[in-house]
Amino acid sequence: MKSIVSVFLLSFSLQAFEYNLVPQKLMKDVYCFFGKPESISKENGGNMVNTCFVQTKEGFVVIDSGPTFSYASQAYEQMQNIAKLPVKYVINTHDHDDHWLGNSFYKNKGALLIGPKTYEQNIQQDMATRMENSVTKETYTGTKVVKLNTVVKENYTFSLGDTEFHIMQLVKQAHTKGDLVVYIPKKKVLFAGDLVFNDRISSLRDGSIIGSLKALELIDSLHPKVIVGGHGYRTDSNATLVFKVYLTTMKKQIQEALENDISIDEISKKVQMPEYRKMKLYDILHRRNVFDAYRELELYDEDE
Ligand SMILES: [Zn+2]
Repeated sequence: MKSIVSVFLLSFSLQAFEYNLVPQKLMKDVYCFFGKPESISKENGGNMVNTCFVQTKEGFVVIDSGPTFSYASQAYEQMQNIAKLPVKYVINTHDHDDHWLGNSFYKNKGALLIGPKTYEQNIQQDMATRMENSVTKETYTGTKVVKLNTVVKENYTFSLGDTEFHIMQLVKQAHTKGDLVVYIPKKKVLFAGDLVFNDRISSLRDGSIIGSLKALELIDSLHPKVIVGGHGYRTDSNATLVFKVYLTTMKKQIQEALENDISIDEISKKVQMPEYRKMKLYDILHRRNVFDAYRELELYDEDE
């Protein structure tokens, strides 16, 4: 009895937060874990983000490593149930920490980490991460900030097995100042990171409404069959649509308001976009998005 109790305690302390990750197969060799369309909380342990993995003959490539060390370790267990193969590369789409704090787990396993230059700038800050401040200590156990092996300036292509991975920064600033997409031409699948949102409102806090719209246009011009965003469940070839309409509507209404000399103090009342009120995170993010977009559009010249 004593040994049963100690085995239980041991496994409990090794796995403090149970993410219950279930890989969803999008096509042959391509899988994702879909997080909930909500904010980070103690209850979800940061599992509000999408992460994906691609199987090749020589190993896995992971796109975004998730919110914690233990998330990554539980994702890895699921991968090993599919095939006993190593994780060779982890690609980080951008520097928001819900997308990459699983890196240290994969680095320990010998994977090479690839990401944008904004990641390098931001990990030099010696302070608690947003995730660390938002989930429990147990959930965060083992999570470390680690350096990249490869920093992508604009484009970077590599092959693993017989699969080619194209990593591209499509515009200077969209969701952040360093957003990478991962495109697999052979499969016509594109991992868009936070350039694509579904099932919830996005945040423009580090981004650009003009750049985001340009990036969405460039994604569509590649004609992917499958598009996976950083948040939300939709993954068809039109997965850019909801976010595109949200931003286009906001841009149009703010530009009209600017023409009518509406000040920044009045703008959030003018651009409420009530058709989105039922969408998750509207109350938290929409007003702020309108302010950020207003500041940008005030200085923006369409013809430039
Ligand atoms: Zn995100």
